[in-house]
Amino acid sequence: MTRNVYVNGEFLPETEAKVSIFDRAFLMADGVYEVTSVLDGKLIDFDGHAVRLERSLNELDMRSPVTKEQLLEIHRELVEMNGIEEGLVYLQITRGAPGDRDFVFPDPETTEPTIVLFTQNKPGLADSPAAKKGMKIISIEDQRWGRRDIKTVQLLYPSMGKMMAKKAGADDAWMVMDGYVTEGTSNNAYYIKGNTIVTRALSNDILHGITRAAVLRFAAEAQMQVEERNFTIEEAQKADEAFITSASAFVMPVVEIDGVPLGDGRPGPKATRLREIYLEESRKVAV
Ligand code: PLP
Repeated sequence: MTRNVYVNGEFLPETEAKVSIFDRAFLMADGVYEVTSVLDGKLIDFDGHAVRLERSLNELDMRSPVTKEQLLEIHRELVEMNGIEEGLVYLQITRGAPGDRDFVFPDPETTEPTIVLFTQNKPGLADSPAAKKGMKIISIEDQRWGRRDIKTVQLLYPSMGKMMAKKAGADDAWMVMDGYVTEGTSNNAYYIKGNTIVTRALSNDILHGITRAAVLRFAAEAQMQVEERNFTIEEAQKADEAFITSASAFVMPVVEIDGVPLGDGRPGPKATRLREIYLEESRKVAV
C-alpha cells in the first residue's frame, strides 16, 4: 500500500511528494523534527512533543507554518489515512527553500518554512521482543555540536554511532563527554542501583526527552529515588540494571555495557516494571 504523507498543506501519496533541492534542511541540516508514537491508533505524549517542537523552533528563530491544533489534526488524519494502530509519526519543519544556497538565513517574510509528516507502521511496537532480550551498549566519544537540547535533523554523528555499535555486535552506543555519559544515539540513558535511578541532568548537553520526563515522574510515584547527575560508564557497569528511553523504544532495558553484563545479563525487574507503567499510563491519556 502506498503511504500518504503530508507536505506543505497537502496530503498526498509518498510517490508524489516533493521538496526543493534548495531546501535548507537538505543543504544545511537547517530543520527540526519530532517523532511521536502511536498505540491503539492514538498519539502518545503529543502535547510534550508539540511543546518541545515550539521550543526547538524558537531557539533557531524559525517559525511554525501551523498551529498546535492544526498539527494535532494533521497527525490524526495521517494516522487514520494510513491505518496505523501501532507505529510512529515523523514530523519535520525546515527554514524552507529560498531558491538558492546561502549561509545567511532567508527572510522569513518571503521564504515559507517547509513542513513534512509521514507515518511508519510498526505492528508489535509495544510488545517488542527487544524489550525481553535487552540491549547491548558500547560507549563512544560524544562528537556532536553543543546544542543537543534542540532537536535538529543533524543526525550524522548519531547515525555513525549506531554503525559503530552494529560493527561491534551491539545494539546502540552511549556517548561520553569529559568522562561522563551524555545520552544514547537516539535516546536518554539511565542506570539503577538499589532503589535509585541515575540519569544526566537536563542542560544543552542532552535532548530533553519527552519519555524521560514521563518516566521520571512515574518512577517518583513508584517510590523510586531519582538522581539527576553526571555518571561514568564504570559506574553504570556496576549497576543492578540500566535502560534507555525514547518515543519509539519507550523504556528499553540494557543488559550489557562495553562487554560487561549487568546483573545476570537479562532485563532487570525495575526497568521492566517501568516499561509496563509507562505503556499503561501513556495509553490512558493518548489522544
Ligand atoms: N536523546 C536523543 C539524542 C534523541 O535523539 C532522542 C529521541 O530521538 C531522545 C534522547 C529521546 O527523546 P524522546 O523521549 O522525546 O523521544
